[in-house]
Amino acid sequence: MSPEVVLTADRTLMSEYGGSLFMGFAACAPKLIPDFFYRLFLCSPVKAARGVAVAAPDGTRKMEAALLEAGIDVRVAHPDHLEEVIDEHTKVVGITTNDPRGLGPASSTFSTLVGKKTYSALFFERTVREVRKVLDSNGGGKVVVGGPGAWQLEDEQVLDEYGIDHLIVGEGEITGVEVIRRVLRGESAPRVVHGEAVPLERIPNIRHRTIGGLVEIARGCGRGCKFCQPNLRFLRARPLSEILQEVKVNLREGAKSVCLHSEDVWRYGAKGPIPDEDKVITLFERVLELTPHVGVSHAAFASVACKPGLVKRVTELLDSHGGGAPWYSAQMGIETASPELVRRYMPGKPLPWKPEEWADVVLRAHEILAENHWVPCSTLISGLPGETARDVELTIELVERLREFKSLIVPLFFVPIGMLKGGKFFLKEDMLPEHWKLLAICMEHNFHWVDELAQEHLQNRLQRAFVRKVVLRMFRQKLREPLKLMKEGIDPTKGEAPIRAQTPTPVAAES
Ligand code: SF4
Repeated sequence: MSPEVVLTADRTLMSEYGGSLFMGFAACAPKLIPDFFYRLFLCSPVKAARGVAVAAPDGTRKMEAALLEAGIDVRVAHPDHLEEVIDEHTKVVGITTNDPRGLGPASSTFSTLVGKKTYSALFFERTVREVRKVLDSNGGGKVVVGGPGAWQLEDEQVLDEYGIDHLIVGEGEITGVEVIRRVLRGESAPRVVHGEAVPLERIPNIRHRTIGGLVEIARGCGRGCKFCQPNLRFLRARPLSEILQEVKVNLREGAKSVCLHSEDVWRYGAKGPIPDEDKVITLFERVLELTPHVGVSHAAFASVACKPGLVKRVTELLDSHGGGAPWYSAQMGIETASPELVRRYMPGKPLPWKPEEWADVVLRAHEILAENHWVPCSTLISGLPGETARDVELTIELVERLREFKSLIVPLFFVPIGMLKGGKFFLKEDMLPEHWKLLAICMEHNFHWVDELAQEHLQNRLQRAFVRKVVLRMFRQKLREPLKLMKEGIDPTKGEAPIRAQTPTPVAAES
């Protein structure tokens, strides 16, 4: 007999990507290769035991823990085995999603350029329809969706199309549990609800293994970029004892490594923009006592530039425990090199430096990271409201100066979220010649480094050979001619340069 509540997530979230969470970016790619190859080489599913997923996204695990703490029994189903877990006792199925309609910055950029739906959107649609079908064949039930991508579904018509009964936008451990409790009692619950920020003492400890051994060390950011999700505004560092507890849960259930997740690992426990070195070093020391295989998800350039000694000390700690990583990595945000745009949209990002010093901060941080064999995977944002050709040129100049550093740079299109919600998405039609040039220069940068990175990083030999001999070769061949045009500022899909002189300024950007 199944519990009344079942949780799941779509297939792009229920994969460990061959031990490389970086490969998770493949979920944001448009469907260019057949499903069979995508599943086999890039997004192989986690295992299932009697329909239950052995590992699940951290957000799903947090909801599972919050429901259990609230006295609500729950099981996490593998999306390929829903019918083994959902039965006539199931009243609610909760689905975690990161990017249900492919509107996230990475997805919308890639799909706009290629004109195809992303895997994230395709698999979410399949999962939600399958959940609906299995629920209905067992007498019905409610579909509740939440997770970082929930904002993409915030529209009654869209919810109707997918057959979603309730949507939780933002943090779910308090509000989401309350919605599910009401549904179980047969009481009315709002169709769309914004989750309240969960105070530290109410963030529950996960009970089972997460994808990639992800362990949340802090929630929120506090740097306050206007294009960022609202729930990242308040920085809450979790107590070390709880972090260690979650590391142990992951290792006990078979995780081969853990990934410390926050928006900026260097500011774990900090009170402001300056890292608290003792807190960070103690964190790594204690986690490394449990496993030598420790990675991090995100970091900030300003924190690196602020405390080069901290990066060196942590690297020495990681090296001395013999995890065997060829280099360490983190996702990081450059976004733009334009002081004016930094001032307007992300004045907190360079702190303790000024907006006009941002490009130099990014450069200095790359030097420090390279000295300590760290490889940043950075994002840029094209089309911030009001961005001019000169702003883009400044970013191009910075990317050219970063060429010598082993790294990846992913240019993304602006997506109106956070304080800029309601504004206009940046689209291919809005691209200036300089945006095409920036895209080409980033692609060249990545082609320059990606082969070496893939060989060093991918653990799975089959995946390594597939990425090198099929994916990279195919991309190089397909992009050779378009790249030449893009470097001239020409839209390769039309063979002519865009004529727009400047990107439009959406209404929301004026507020
Ligand atoms: S620094 Fe990153 S996580 Fe923090 S507010 Fe800015 S974009 Fe968001």
